[in-house]
Amino acid sequence: MLGERKVGRRSGPAAPSHPARFVKLAFRRVPRLKAIVVRAVDVAVESGRRVLSSAAPLAPFALKLAWAKVEVAWARRTGRDSRHDPGQLLLSLEPSAIARLAPRLERGSVVISATNGKTTTAALTAAILRRAGMAPVHNERGDNLLGGVATRLAVAARRGGRIDGDIGVFEVDEGYLARVLPQLAPRVVLLGNVFRDQLDRFGETAAIIDAWRELIGARSRGTRFVLNADDPLVAGLGSDVPGCLYYGIEDPSCALAAPDHAFDGWQCHRCGARYRFAAHFLSHLGHYACPGCGWARPKPDVSAHAVDLDGLRGAHLRLSTPRGDRDLRLRLTGLHNVYNTLAAAAIGYTCGVDLDEVAASLRETPPVWGRGEHFQIGAREVTVTLVKNPAGANTVLRTLTGDGAELDLLGVLTDDGRDGRDVAWVWDADFERLAQHTRSIVCSGSRGAELAVRLKYAGVPAGRIVVDPDIETAVRSAVAQGDGQLHAFANYTGMVALRGALAGARRSVAAAAHGVGC
Ligand SMILES: [Zn+2]
Repeated sequence: MLGERKVGRRSGPAAPSHPARFVKLAFRRVPRLKAIVVRAVDVAVESGRRVLSSAAPLAPFALKLAWAKVEVAWARRTGRDSRHDPGQLLLSLEPSAIARLAPRLERGSVVISATNGKTTTAALTAAILRRAGMAPVHNERGDNLLGGVATRLAVAARRGGRIDGDIGVFEVDEGYLARVLPQLAPRVVLLGNVFRDQLDRFGETAAIIDAWRELIGARSRGTRFVLNADDPLVAGLGSDVPGCLYYGIEDPSCALAAPDHAFDGWQCHRCGARYRFAAHFLSHLGHYACPGCGWARPKPDVSAHAVDLDGLRGAHLRLSTPRGDRDLRLRLTGLHNVYNTLAAAAIGYTCGVDLDEVAASLRETPPVWGRGEHFQIGAREVTVTLVKNPAGANTVLRTLTGDGAELDLLGVLTDDGRDGRDVAWVWDADFERLAQHTRSIVCSGSRGAELAVRLKYAGVPAGRIVVDPDIETAVRSAVAQGDGQLHAFANYTGMVALRGALAGARRSVAAAAHGVGC
């Protein structure tokens, strides 16, 4: 029957009386009519929001939710969705919207916060929970402020107090955790790491840690905290809190010979003495103990052993949990992704997911948006990696240069919006690692020239550095001037532009190849 209906609908004439067809016809016949109708609906929507805002204390929540959805649908219809965020709209009408929607998720919510690795950890977590038969509501687009969480809940909300999903997976910006947690009341909160990042926006790492300490102190009974044992700043938060779960790397063979220059966690949170490190893995993450008071890295419940970083091809490790051990071959590269994998495995364990399901999911999950993604442009393979602070840059540089090969690179540095205006962090990242490994590098973006200066001081020969602030032409020249792999890195808004330029270059190359073929 279904097949017959489909065939009938496809082969039969379209109904001439469909209202949308009349509207389209009218718009074509009277060119000004469309502008008049759009303006009239705009005014109606604006008036409706004013009325609803003034009556907000009396208006039912369902009406506010429905209104937010209507406004967003209208904004998208008219191509203005960037200005209209359903979460922000809903929060303006109902400040407790998150607290009202979150309880609809019958399995509760998981919150992931960290300076680096939130998006990948959340993607791995959602994949694990999905494989275990759950239906995550996940802010996968990385919109991790209050409005982003509200948006994802509002989009999933259905009539009659229902929601399309049963568990929330939310990455939350480390500076906004204190505003999101009281509303979400999550069952699991993972705190991954704290590094210096956008100091003009967040202040020093101590400010983040102080805010997190208050949150842990005020935790609700139903929330379990999962902490990175290797980050003394984060692990210290749990030292007086029973019931925290810890994860960390147990294999000392992947330790650095010397600590990175970007190093934040020297001092014991209890007595102020300098920690003694037996192993440095990444910035201040490692194996440490305090000689003053005796406090030391907690023994991790979920850990990585026999770690083998296979350069740009992936990574191997043996995952150890209280439910057993499994060997993992990851599609993700670098030690930072070993940490992201452990974080997601620890959440899977806390949520009661079978270890085989956890392991299978971790083996399969590919890199997410801008975190080791691959673009094929003609014969060239381009990998793109987000680099936005010294600690993140250092682990990416370590992965890139791990094989000892000569590299063709494209670096994009911008200072717009989410990047913060201060790009001085590039002087704290160990770009010296590139000095012996750079065959060519194109520096692009609004602060591409500053990146070029940093590379010159890092020892990259000046003759191998090209500066082109225009990201599109920089992509074209970087793709054109070699034949092997091209490794691109960018900070946040640089990455948005870079991905757009790469997609454009891919279309141009494909169109040219098609033209030649014809
Ligand atoms: Zn101490």
